[in-house]
Amino acid sequence: MIAVEETSDDVGQLIAAAAEFYRRGWVLGTSGNFSSLVSRAPFRMCITASGHAKGELDQAQFIELDANTAILSGSGKPSAESQLHITLYQLLPQARSVMHTHSVWGTILSDKYFADCAITIEGYEMLKGLAGVATHQHKEIVPVIENSQDYAALSHVIENVVREQPNIHGIYLRRHGLYTWGQDVAEAKRHIEILEFLFEVLGRTQNWSL
Ligand SMILES: [Zn+2]
Repeated sequence: MIAVEETSDDVGQLIAAAAEFYRRGWVLGTSGNFSSLVSRAPFRMCITASGHAKGELDQAQFIELDANTAILSGSGKPSAESQLHITLYQLLPQARSVMHTHSVWGTILSDKYFADCAITIEGYEMLKGLAGVATHQHKEIVPVIENSQDYAALSHVIENVVREQPNIHGIYLRRHGLYTWGQDVAEAKRHIEILEFLFEVLGRTQNWSL
């Protein structure tokens, strides 16, 4: 069990978000992972342990990890993708929650636009749900990077992408899933909802030639 007082509210919000995303079909079959930052120095984050269905999480299915993915409290196995959460927290000083979903529309678009290196979204009112975006005329670039089981290598790619494009709100691993973040759990949840909405709009309005 996580015994840290300040994480309990975040964990409750992560559980609620995960259940909602499961219901929407964005984290089926134990996919996805959800975290919040406990402290930056020393680095501590609270994250879903590997292998649990996201529709029915409880507090015991969260573990607290340090910057080397060593377990500080809780029991369970860290997801291999924990490293990517750590990388994002270290790169993004404003991030206090990181979320990762596997949706149908995102998966399809990430493949379709892989050759362009990004899913580009422009001209939709819902873009204003992304932090710092004030107009539907905003052009949002969601970089798409090749998926891999080598998470150390993926971390390096993500580091380069974020350094080159510091204003992005999310990154897509091709045929895999979305990573987004927020200054708190509520903002990260909002970013998942906004991006997944926009992926579905883009997907449904494409003139597909599959
Ligand atoms: Zn994943």
